[in-house]
Amino acid sequence: MFNLKKISEFAYELPEDQSMKVPGIIYINDTLLKNFTNDEPIKQVRNVASLPGIVKASIAMPDIHMGYGFPIGGVAAFDYDNGIVSPGGVGYDINCGVTLIKTNLKYQEVRNKIADIIENLYKSIPAGIDHKSSLRLNQQSLSNILSEGIYWALENGYATENDMLNTEESGKIECDASYVSEKAMARGINELGTLGGGNHFLEIQRVSSIMDDKTSKMFGMEPDQVTIMVHTGSRGLGHQVATDFITEILNSGEGIKNENDKQLTSVYISSKIGQRYINSMNAAANFSFVNRQIITYKIRKVFEETFKRDYESLGMDILYSLAHNMAKQEYHIIENTKRKLLVHRKGATRAFPAGVAEGKFSSTGYPVIIPGDMGTASYVLVGTQENMKNSFGSSCHGAGRVLSRKASNEKFTPESVLRELNDRGIYIRAATKKVITEESPESYKDIDEVIKVVNGANIARPVLKLTPLAVMKG
Ligand code: 5GP
Ligand code: MN
Ligand code: MN
Repeated sequence: MFNLKKISEFAYELPEDQSMKVPGIIYINDTLLKNFTNDEPIKQVRNVASLPGIVKASIAMPDIHMGYGFPIGGVAAFDYDNGIVSPGGVGYDINCGVTLIKTNLKYQEVRNKIADIIENLYKSIPAGIDHKSSLRLNQQSLSNILSEGIYWALENGYATENDMLNTEESGKIECDASYVSEKAMARGINELGTLGGGNHFLEIQRVSSIMDDKTSKMFGMEPDQVTIMVHTGSRGLGHQVATDFITEILNSGEGIKNENDKQLTSVYISSKIGQRYINSMNAAANFSFVNRQIITYKIRKVFEETFKRDYESLGMDILYSLAHNMAKQEYHIIENTKRKLLVHRKGATRAFPAGVAEGKFSSTGYPVIIPGDMGTASYVLVGTQENMKNSFGSSCHGAGRVLSRKASNEKFTPESVLRELNDRGIYIRAATKKVITEESPESYKDIDEVIKVVNGANIARPVLKLTPLAVMKG
C-alpha cells in the first residue's frame, strides 16, 4: 500500500516519485480511506501526475475509485498549448451528469401517488441497456443535436429558454461535429430520451433538510418540496466516441506512452487526433444535454397528467443540469498568472462559487449536485472561493462505489435489498433484478461522510439534503 502523507484532516498527499511532474493530492479522511481494498485508484492518481503539461496537481475527490486509466473522482488540468487530452480522463460516458428538477409540490401532496408516478415514468422513459427511444430521429436532426445541443430542443418544443439558462454551458458547446463516426451516430440515433442502465437513475425525492437557508431560497427550494433527479449521459453515442478515439490513439503511435499503465491513452491537445477528439467529445456532450432535456420533457408530461395541471403551474423548472464527465477549456490563475487549461473532470463536478459563476448563478455559485445512493440521500452544494485555487473549482460527483458490481451480487439478494428499501418507504422500479443488488446502497460509500470531507476540505458548502421517495433504475 502507498504510504500516504496526511496533510490535514481532509487531505492526503502521495509520496514523491520520479515519474510525477506534480504532487498527487487526495481529499479524503481516515474513515473513507478504510474503504480502500487495494491501491489501484491511488496508482492512477500517480500515473496521471506523470502526464505532459499537467498543472498544479493530480487531484482526487473523496468519491475516488478505480476507472479506465484515470480514477473516477479525478481532476487534472493540462496546459492548453503543451499538454495532453485523454479520452480515459473524461470517461466512456461523455457528459454523464445530473439534472435536478424542482416542483412546487409538497411531500404530503404526492405521497399517495408516488407508485403511480414512477410506474408511469417507467412506461414513458425507456430504461435499461438495450431499450430504444420512441423518438424517431433522422440523420439531419441528429447532426443538428450534435452541433446545436439544447438549441435543437428549444426549436423543437422540448425545452424553454429558461431550461437553457439552467443548463451548464447553456446546453451547447461549440464544436465541429463532423468528426463523430457513423458508428457512433448509428448508436445514438435510437437512444435520445433514454435513461440507460446500471448506475443511471431517475429519482423522486423530498428536501429533507436545509443547511444554507439563504442559498436555498435563492435556488427556490424549501423543506418538504418534491424534486426529481435524473442521472444519465450520452448513451451509446458517447461510448462509441470514447472507444473510437482510444482505439485510434493506441494504433496511431502518437499516443503518449506511460510505463505504468497502458490504459492511460493520451495525445497532445495540439495534435490532429487531439483536436478531433475534443470536437467529438463536445458533440457527444451536446447529445447528452439534449438527452437529459428530453427526459425532463417526458417527466413534465407525466406530472401534468397526474396532477391535471400544466408543468409551469407545478413549478417544474430545472434547478440545474450539469456534466460530471468532461474535459473543458477554462482559464485559471496559477501562481499569479492566468492560464488557458484543459480541465479533465472524470466523475467530478464543476463547482465555481459566487463571483466566478456566470449568468443567473453569479450571486450563488453553480449548484453542485451530488447523488448518494438509492436508499440514503443526495446533496446540493455550492463551491467555495478557496477551492478555485485548490482544485480548479471542482467537487466530487457522488458517493463513489465501494463494492464492485460482482461483489454486490455475491453479497446481497434483490429481495433483501428491496425489503430494506421498502422498509424505509422507498418505492423501486428496476428494469432488471440484477441492478437492484449491483446498485444497493451498501455498494456505495457513506454519502454523509463524503459530504463531511467536501465541507471540511473547503471544496463546497452543503445547501440542502434530498432523500429518495421512489427510484427508477435502468
Ligand atoms: P457515476 O456517474 O459514477 O455512475 O455515479 C454517480 C453517483 O451517483 C455514484 O457515485 C453514486 O453515489 C450515485 N448513485 C448511484 N445510483 C444512485 C441512485 O439510485 N440514487 C441516488 N440518489 N444516487 C445514486
Ligand atoms: Mn455519472
Ligand atoms: Mn453515466
